[in-house]
Amino acid sequence: MGRVFVAGSINMDVVATADRHPKVGETVAGKQVLYFPGGKGANQAVAASRLGAQTTLIGRLGKDSFGAELKAFLADQGIDLGYLQETAEAHTGTAIITVAASDNTIVVIPGSNALVAADDVRVVPLLKGDVAVSQFEIPLPTIAVFFQRAREAGATTVLNPAPAQTMSRELLALVDVLVLNETELGFLAGVELSEDDSAARIIEVARRLQARADQTICVTLGKRGVLARAGSEEFAVPGRAVKAVDTTGAGDCFVGALAAQLADGVALRTALTFANAAASISVQRMGAGPSMPTAAEVAAVLN
Ligand code: ATP
Repeated sequence: MGRVFVAGSINMDVVATADRHPKVGETVAGKQVLYFPGGKGANQAVAASRLGAQTTLIGRLGKDSFGAELKAFLADQGIDLGYLQETAEAHTGTAIITVAASDNTIVVIPGSNALVAADDVRVVPLLKGDVAVSQFEIPLPTIAVFFQRAREAGATTVLNPAPAQTMSRELLALVDVLVLNETELGFLAGVELSEDDSAARIIEVARRLQARADQTICVTLGKRGVLARAGSEEFAVPGRAVKAVDTTGAGDCFVGALAAQLADGVALRTALTFANAAASISVQRMGAGPSMPTAAEVAAVLN
């Protein structure tokens, strides 16, 4: 069976809760401060590992207390950290989140994530059958080198281009499986798309974005599930009717689960059905990392 290699971001999410947000220049008393491991790379690696895939996370932490805590957490999740670097040149990636009523504000400081370099990914021992996963919270030139190496080795490349930013056609052509939501699809294709757009319109835009005839594009649509164009085949996996309490990290759960399935040699349609079920479990629980399901929990839902 193949393995999952995630090159991506690792953050400490620092959440402050209060009755209301301060105005500019104002100080308000908060209620609680909470610390959650986060970052898309870490979240996706946690999802894949919890689902049973042999998972390696390539990234950078600062030499500080957040870095030490995150390292311990990731090791505890069974993730291989042999290619994780520590740097004295930046602090660990941090997201400062304030939550008041049901609104939040977020400031993300990339810190050490911005220093994940081509040399960090060049040394990764990718083999045929492995799956290489990345997102847009580390430098794009590093992702290009990682995917180039992966394709040379016969591994499958999976890109989650989030948060959306402009990418070159060359980088897009290195992607075997692109997983994105409708907003990111609209951004990359240069058109307005919203959650109310029809499946026909969304798949038409995906068709236009496709950079290679054998490329797969999966568009996640929240509770509506997922639409896919795989080569010239198109299909939908409907969302599962569940009571969502917190959708944070749903996309990351989906990507991690899909990568774990592809590494296991599962066919795309079955892999997407599994990832859709895994993500539907994660939205019924609070948080990102802690909400990722196990393979047994997903199997129970699918049976
Ligand atoms: P986020 O940024 O919050 O992680 P996203 O926009 O990247 O999310 P979504 O499309 O919202 O990703 O969700 C990813 C997948 O999670 C969906 O394709 C679906 O499988 C599952 N999902 C999300 N929300 C729900 C929901 N309310 N009910 C059932 N499944 C859901």
